[in-house]
Amino acid sequence: MNFLPTDEQRLAVEGFNRFLDTRLEPIVRRYQPDKLIEKERMLEIFQMMLPYGMGGNGLISEANGGLGMPWLTYAMMYDNLARVSGDVAISLLIQQLGAYSLEVCSNDAMRQKYLPRMVRAEIIACSGISEPGVGSNVAEVTCRAKADGDHFIVSGEKTWISNGHYSDFCMVIVRTSDEGARGLSMILVDRQEHGYESRNIDKLGLNSTSTAQLFFDNVRVPAGNMMIQAGTGLKNTLVLFEKARPMVGLTSVGIAQAALNKAVAYAKERRQHGKPIGQHQLIQGMLADSAIQLDAARLLIYRAFNLIDHGVRSEVESAMAKCYATEIAVDVASKAVQIHGGNGITKDFGVELLFRNARMMTIPDGTTEIQKLIIGRALTGLNAFS
Ligand SMILES: Cc1cc2nc3c(=O)[nH]c(=O)nc-3n(C[C@H](O)[C@H](O)[C@H](O)COP(=O)(O)OP(=O)(O)OC[C@H]3O[C@@H](n4cnc5c(N)ncnc54)[C@H](O)[C@@H]3O)c2cc1C
Repeated sequence: MNFLPTDEQRLAVEGFNRFLDTRLEPIVRRYQPDKLIEKERMLEIFQMMLPYGMGGNGLISEANGGLGMPWLTYAMMYDNLARVSGDVAISLLIQQLGAYSLEVCSNDAMRQKYLPRMVRAEIIACSGISEPGVGSNVAEVTCRAKADGDHFIVSGEKTWISNGHYSDFCMVIVRTSDEGARGLSMILVDRQEHGYESRNIDKLGLNSTSTAQLFFDNVRVPAGNMMIQAGTGLKNTLVLFEKARPMVGLTSVGIAQAALNKAVAYAKERRQHGKPIGQHQLIQGMLADSAIQLDAARLLIYRAFNLIDHGVRSEVESAMAKCYATEIAVDVASKAVQIHGGNGITKDFGVELLFRNARMMTIPDGTTEIQKLIIGRALTGLNAFS
């Protein structure tokens, strides 16, 4: 076990950090606190990040035009992206995993048609699982894909879809038969070619990126757009969750790190009772607890990505990382608000936005409770889901 980054990782993170602090930060600041980054601007940002492997190309193999980065190196850079913009980080998370899904669980035709434009950041992907009546239990998906000759007719509604309003295509989890979990498949629906509508959702936080409802009104999609073998939709979703969950945790870590950085700066500057508040022991206690929580979360997350890089299944480790990181991030951001006193609850100091953003992340890709059920099942051998 080695906790030191390699020279390659250190240089990659340093170079990306310079870009983030000098070029990305001034752009995203213009959209804070709650203005939606336009699709064209989001694509422009992805394109600016391509040289660093952070525009949807990083985790794609060199054979398919990507950089073939290890997940752990990618994660170290993503951590910093989330520190500068949780909104851009979430958009990239979906974009990168969309490209990854095309590469590893798709057919040749879909891969050839969409992957090159994804690795050049010319189009935006989204992933449609959740529905108004289906959240934690993916097996209950109702959105239908009904066979009609050499086409499928897709009908239904998806909700809370990250990148939904931006999306050029959606990888939709659909029901192709009534056999419960075994009746789920994944089909690629192209907005321009086949047509679907979206409506952006106004939310508690992360409003600079799109979360949307998607409406599929008897959309005719060629059978060749079925990305995976019919009936394996749930299995593929669960394998993708293993990778997505530590990345969601890392989004939280980045957001909370930004809050801690602000709290440290404020504690050194703000004076009460004749000295900087950072010289009061209880304030130092809050800062120290936050730093410990963030490091512990990072270690869980980096372990999960290390396992993924070694091709080892990481369902439980990914669940632990997501569960812990997203929960402590709320606490760390909350302490940053507390350290800012009254200023903390205003829009002027930025920590209230980070608190709202952190609060969002305990829900997607399996809530905290769902992660605990996965961990509990591994500990006891007893399945609390059924
Ligand atoms: C920021 C954000 C981005 C998202 N992006 C996407 C996306 O890109 N694509 C997509 O498809 N979805 C996305 N989602 C949706 C997300 O995956 C769901 O919100 C999540 O799975 C929870 O589903 P739900 O909201 O329907 O809550 P529900 O499943 O209705 O859960 C409500 C509450 O009940 C609890 N609960 C449910 N079942 C159990 C149980 N068995 N035991 C104990 N407690 C339980 C939950 O933990 C929760 O507290 C996103 C959500 C958010 C907040």
